[in-house]
Amino acid sequence: MLQVPASNSIMLILGQSLWADTTGPLQPGHGLAVSAGRILAAGPHTDLCARFPAAQVVDAGDCVITPAFTNAHHHMYGVLAHGIPLDEAPAGFWPFLEDFWWPRVEDRLSHELIAAATDWACLEMVRSGVTTFYDCLEAPYALPGALEVEAGVVRRWGLRGVLSFEATQRVSDENGELGLRENASFFNACRGRDDLVSGMICFHTTFTCSAGFIRRAFALAAERGARVHMHLSEGTYEPQYCLEHFGQRPVNYYDGMGVLGPHVLASQAVQVDADEVDILARRGVHVSHQPLSNCEVGGGFAPVPEMLAAGVNVALGSDGYVNNFFEVMRAAALMPKARLLDPATMPAAAAWTMATQNGARALGFEDLGTLAPGKQADLLLIRADLPSPLAAHNAADQLLFWRNPENLYGVMSAGRWLLWEGHVVDQDPEAIRQRVSSAAARLWQA
Ligand SMILES: [Zn+2]
Repeated sequence: MLQVPASNSIMLILGQSLWADTTGPLQPGHGLAVSAGRILAAGPHTDLCARFPAAQVVDAGDCVITPAFTNAHHHMYGVLAHGIPLDEAPAGFWPFLEDFWWPRVEDRLSHELIAAATDWACLEMVRSGVTTFYDCLEAPYALPGALEVEAGVVRRWGLRGVLSFEATQRVSDENGELGLRENASFFNACRGRDDLVSGMICFHTTFTCSAGFIRRAFALAAERGARVHMHLSEGTYEPQYCLEHFGQRPVNYYDGMGVLGPHVLASQAVQVDADEVDILARRGVHVSHQPLSNCEVGGGFAPVPEMLAAGVNVALGSDGYVNNFFEVMRAAALMPKARLLDPATMPAAAAWTMATQNGARALGFEDLGTLAPGKQADLLLIRADLPSPLAAHNAADQLLFWRNPENLYGVMSAGRWLLWEGHVVDQDPEAIRQRVSSAAARLWQA
């Protein structure tokens, strides 16, 4: 039986070191005091013990305490397509969508399949150190109510989920309208509850949504003070489409509509030129980067160091593909080095910051991403039993390149341990796996 530390008052978490802010140094001998889901204090073990003598002490041994990850772009239903039989690999990004992803996956999703996939995705996130995520569901024949199905599962896990439905007119105008309404009513419903699940307005792209539809999505968001997500130039298809139909590239097109701003989260931004990067930076648009799925769809290499240098807030996501967040971070750190022939670009700490602080900012969580007094107690305990010494000069590299989900000892979300001693708490992983596996088999047979 797993003995999970729980405290109604103050909990001291004392590990071998604290990495409270990934833009700053590792602090050996430092720990945290946590109370009511938030960080109460950070400091040397001796100071914390003297200040809170009655607190429950959690001895995290050789673990490093770090902020938990934010997966800023997920498609939780994506697991159902992992390993799906294909006659041949899609010939490009458009065939990937039109011949495979839309008819074989998204159009076949039901509430039952979505629930099974969401449960598995939550399990994977907890095991991978993700406590906060943004999800984009496209399932045109699962409307209405698909987001409430996901939310029920996410609430049970205790993860901080920002859920959205990817509204698009690709099936019909009426179906697009249903998608927008799904987002708007879910956003409203979440605002009336005090928990970790919230909503966002979402539409697909410039090539599946008319200008009027896009304006309507932004208007629904503005009425509610909601954020807006869209996929942006994941491959060369969308810029070519925009140039042909509108005589300008996608970011210029949106900017001409006057809709860009810090309330916008654009995912992918792979095929964006320097002028578009400049606009994204000036408007304060947040970008989520999915290095591994960009490879999968043959989308190209996103100009991440260039966007960061221009001042764009770039977060990291898994895209529902390879959801091991250590692998996502490694790809984000390594791919630019190869593309730019420059081993100095994208140091490991920059990938860490994208996975923590930038992700929190992209989703509008001011009180996440670092471990400072007053912030949310979303943290990881990462075992530091490495084959070479962990030190201040190498912490980012050691913890990025040579740690994995199996090296996680604890994962805390809003003050609650979701993973302890390497095991998920109060869940049955094998039952969840069997359920999603049979759901995937049904999807493949449909
Ligand atoms: Zn996506």
